[in-house]
Amino acid sequence: MTDDVAEADIERAADLLARARRVTVLSGAGVSTDSGIPDFRGPQGVWTRNPAAERLSTLQAYVSDPEVRRESWRQRAAHPVWRARPGPAHTALVDLERSGRLLALLTQNIDELHQAAGSSPDLVVELHGTVHHVQCLSCGLRAPMSEALERVAAGEEDPPCPRCGGVLKSATISFGQELDAGVLMRARRAAVDAEVLLAVGTSLGVHPAAGVVDLAAAAGAAVIIVNAEPTPYDDVADVVLRGGVGDVLPRLVRDLEPVAD
Ligand code: NAD
Repeated sequence: MTDDVAEADIERAADLLARARRVTVLSGAGVSTDSGIPDFRGPQGVWTRNPAAERLSTLQAYVSDPEVRRESWRQRAAHPVWRARPGPAHTALVDLERSGRLLALLTQNIDELHQAAGSSPDLVVELHGTVHHVQCLSCGLRAPMSEALERVAAGEEDPPCPRCGGVLKSATISFGQELDAGVLMRARRAAVDAEVLLAVGTSLGVHPAAGVVDLAAAAGAAVIIVNAEPTPYDDVADVVLRGGVGDVLPRLVRDLEPVAD
């Protein structure tokens, strides 16, 4: 992605980070597009190219329509996430953590690429779950996605729960599905406790996840937004860096000294 973010704006944001001891990051699908995983709403997004695909992400359609489930399993089996490797934006967030400033890495992503890059699993808060596991919508059984995909490869088009026969779905939050209350509370706490809220690669159009920006700003945090397109929160931000995360994030963290104990 081409990028023309001015060095002066990078320096303003880097200075906010350098002076902070508690930085909370909110990441979105844009962090993983360089890794070959399309976002939903960007110019090449899954829903931008095919608006009807949004239906596959609604719980009601998934539960009530076996064809939606069969199509979902076909798409999961072929998903680029299984071959994806972390990119420069993921690595830059590991560097931010190593500088001693990361309070929490709140992610809307379901791809586990932050953990694959080396971010501490303890600091990653997966607001929308993970595609690396499945969950039964009836009995709650949780199991590795790889086992379910083996059944799909062996010919089951819509594999039911091996324990109770219920509907199996990736352990992700669909539209119409509540976020885990404990996960959301942890994310909100990290927003309120932050000195800087850094939102990266997210359209900030999905709630309640995007609401952590408001919470952090109301509690006095500086807000930095790094995204290729405008977001509804740009007016709230202290610095908006409109460019590619793979370019901007490494520049933001390159001169960060470790915090003194
Ligand atoms: P989104 O699709 O709504 O927005 C992504 C934003 O990132 C867009 O504004 C786009 O312009 C920007 N962007 C794309 N590539 C970029 C880049 N290289 N540099 C800078 N900006 C870039 O995504 P969202 O805000 O995360 O919300 C969508 C929902 O979709 C989330 O709930 C998430 O769970 C899910 N999702 C996850 C993945 C994933 O895990 N990788 C992929 C697609 C969707």
